[in-house]
Amino acid sequence: MFGKKDKYAPFDKEACSKIEASIAQAEEKTSGEIRVHVVERCRENVLESAAMAFDSLGMAKTKLRNGVLLFFATQDRKFAIIGDQGINDIVGQGFWDDAVEMVERGFGSGKPIEAVCDAIRLCGEKLSAHFPPQENDEDELPNQVSFQK
Ligand code: CA
Ligand code: CA
Repeated sequence: MFGKKDKYAPFDKEACSKIEASIAQAEEKTSGEIRVHVVERCRENVLESAAMAFDSLGMAKTKLRNGVLLFFATQDRKFAIIGDQGINDIVGQGFWDDAVEMVERGFGSGKPIEAVCDAIRLCGEKLSAHFPPQENDEDELPNQVSFQK
């Protein structure tokens, strides 16, 4: 599922610029904010770890509470997609499950980054339907992929 060479594979430089471009594109159509965070290990429950990262990345501070985090633990091959309460109040768990499944399939078929970008597009479309861009929309959260320090 994940490569072994690099502890953060397949999130290399090229992959990160593709992801950043997908996030920027998705955010043109919504006030929502999407982030990708990558850690090496996750021995705990992946949803709890994702929620902790969500907080520590300041993602609960968007005005409309519409941040979405795609969280990856490369070495333990776990990932999760979670949203803030603004978007969670609207979409059901089924939506996140579908997005996670999409990424899982991509990792299984050797096209992980394409799948991550597809999931970003999917989340962007969902956000866009409920959270159109604001006037003078701000980029409240950076589009760069972040890594565990
Ligand atoms: Ca924004
Ligand atoms: Ca952003």
